[in-house]
Amino acid sequence: MSWFIEYYDDSALMIKVKETLFESKGIQHIQIFETAGFGKMLVLDGKIQLTERDESFYHEMLVHVPLFMVDEPKKILVIGGGDGGTVREVLKHNPDEVVMVEIDDTVINACRKYIGIDGGALEDERVTVLIEDGMEYVENCKERFDVVIVDGTDPNPVSESLVKEDFFNNCKRISNIFATQAQSPFIQKEYFIEIYKSIKKAFENYRIYINFVPTYPLGLWSYMIASKNEIEPDYDKIKQRWLERKISTKHYNPDLHVASFALPEWLKKEVKGD
Ligand code: SAM
Repeated sequence: MSWFIEYYDDSALMIKVKETLFESKGIQHIQIFETAGFGKMLVLDGKIQLTERDESFYHEMLVHVPLFMVDEPKKILVIGGGDGGTVREVLKHNPDEVVMVEIDDTVINACRKYIGIDGGALEDERVTVLIEDGMEYVENCKERFDVVIVDGTDPNPVSESLVKEDFFNNCKRISNIFATQAQSPFIQKEYFIEIYKSIKKAFENYRIYINFVPTYPLGLWSYMIASKNEIEPDYDKIKQRWLERKISTKHYNPDLHVASFALPEWLKKEVKGD
């Protein structure tokens, strides 16, 4: 046994590791571990991306919050998401078409071989997987999507374009509703504010929502949802869609959906005036 340590600026998270299942250094440093208590774990450039034990906390809130705010989510774009967890959740809404644009095919292949949380989703006939930079894809995209979801890494040289205003402008052009993961507002304040400011410039309507993901930096995680149209988490509509679509989840439910938009006072202060 050894310990994997993810270092933050002035704190860290330690996960007990049984063995390394895969490692490669390409455009990103990819590591997959068998852990003692969290199942398999994907790490990119030293940052935990998922563990089997709590990946549903993250993927279900990233996907079901925007998709339950749409009457008929039929055509969905996912940027990033190489482990397949996001597409797995999207398919529960029975869309006609899903496009996933992932920059690093080694993430896809290694996750399918050693983790398998996609549960076959990436082979579904409604899913097209493109190996391409998400920024370039949205820049050149002539199609429209009901929902665009960004499941990218912490800003690094590969993913930093996914937090810029240009990227969000293009996402607005091609989507009715847009959602992205937005880092820890507590200890990654700079990234969080950068994403918030860029989204605010690009979209007329935007909301932050938060959730607990135990293996993400100190547990608190944020997301942003944005649209040309008004965004109001209407409990009755969401509950009705949830009952109609009969989606089974481990973490998400309509009560959590609406509650996730309630922000603590310190976080409201962080974004006030920005
Ligand atoms: N949600 C996780 C987190 O916050 O820790 C990240 C999940 S991981 C599957 C994110 C994926 O985004 C990686 O597979 C990475 O290769 C991909 N990615 C990063 N930059 C990208 C880009 N510019 N275009 C497309 N995919 C990108």
